[in-house]
Amino acid sequence: MKRPRLMAPGPVLVGQSVMKRISESIIHHRTPAFTERLNSALKNLKKIFQTEQACMIHASTGTGAMESAIVNTLSPGDEILVVCCGRFGERWAEIAEAYGIKAHRIEQEWGTSLKISNLEKALKDHPNVKALLSQACETSTGAIHPIKEMAEKMNDHSGIFMVDGITALGAYHIPMDRWGIDVLIGGSQKAFALPTGLSFISLSEKAWKFYEEAKCPRFYFDLKSEKLANDKGQTRFSSAGSLIEGLELSLYYLTEMGLDNHFHTIADRAFYFRKAMKEMGLEFFPENPSPSLTVVKVPEGIDGVKFRAHIEDKYNVTVMGGQEKLKGQIIRIGHMGAQNLNDYLLTISAIGNSLIDLGFALSKEQVDRAELNYKCNWQERESGHG
Ligand SMILES: *Cc1c(COP(=O)(O)O)cnc(C)c1O
Repeated sequence: MKRPRLMAPGPVLVGQSVMKRISESIIHHRTPAFTERLNSALKNLKKIFQTEQACMIHASTGTGAMESAIVNTLSPGDEILVVCCGRFGERWAEIAEAYGIKAHRIEQEWGTSLKISNLEKALKDHPNVKALLSQACETSTGAIHPIKEMAEKMNDHSGIFMVDGITALGAYHIPMDRWGIDVLIGGSQKAFALPTGLSFISLSEKAWKFYEEAKCPRFYFDLKSEKLANDKGQTRFSSAGSLIEGLELSLYYLTEMGLDNHFHTIADRAFYFRKAMKEMGLEFFPENPSPSLTVVKVPEGIDGVKFRAHIEDKYNVTVMGGQEKLKGQIIRIGHMGAQNLNDYLLTISAIGNSLIDLGFALSKEQVDRAELNYKCNWQERESGHG
């Protein structure tokens, strides 16, 4: 079977040593050997969340942690504000509504970042809201939201601030305690450079108070029971042992390398890649792009669905297209995961040559030059002169 190079904004490329660890023989999850792994992972997760609070792991995809955030802090009938300018904002609202919570959407055009004045207005219009829910990075558009400023607005509000940081946490600084975020979540197949299947969550002291009052039905995702099990070196139910072993190793690398270094690497991948896209005549979609992914507009006259499929079929690179109202209009390339220089050269040439194949006004020389410039920039950076 053909296995195209994975350059999507999740799932992402997983490094070889982590893949190897995941494929080792299984350690039973109720043993001291596993407890050691789990404790290390839980301890290092706090460094990524930049929190003193406990971090917990769910054996679920990221959406599970979104549901967990809601059922552990809210009650049917509660009112909340949800930032909706993309597909994942809408998902927050849909989960809440499934539990009988009244979601007031702060709607803006897809691709925009939240305007603080719109938040101020929504807070005035709905004075009784129990929470504000947002993405840190709206992965469907590539836009980043002003989380620090939003947290400031919520800090003297009686409600809590819940952030889906699935394409932020582990990709750039999002210091939960310092900024005053009450619930923060992450996902394994994005910035943690792991396969899909784990999600992460942490609650502030204020959010734990909400836990005590929350009336949404919950069982599997009950965080207090999970935390009690974690305090004894276990997970409440069977641990996703192999993935947690992979997590332990991935977190070890992240924290050993230093978070700042890791975040710089991701930001530089994005910076030089965008330079290459610009050199090939492409434009970008979001007004304030996140470093975790690049979203380029499909040039006029090119069928975006065909374009994405062509990159994969002919050049063996997987990038993502747009979803729902952006279908066919954008392609999305991730900067998270175990990517190297070669992955980028391949991606730049795959995108460039596909554009040529589909009739875009671009020459082979321009594509080669964009690729070469990326290579020079990256090598200069690696040698410490970048
Ligand atoms: C990927 C992603 C999710 C979670 O999706 P799952 O498929 O459940 O892992 C949620 N929010 C954002 C912003 C994401 O990028």
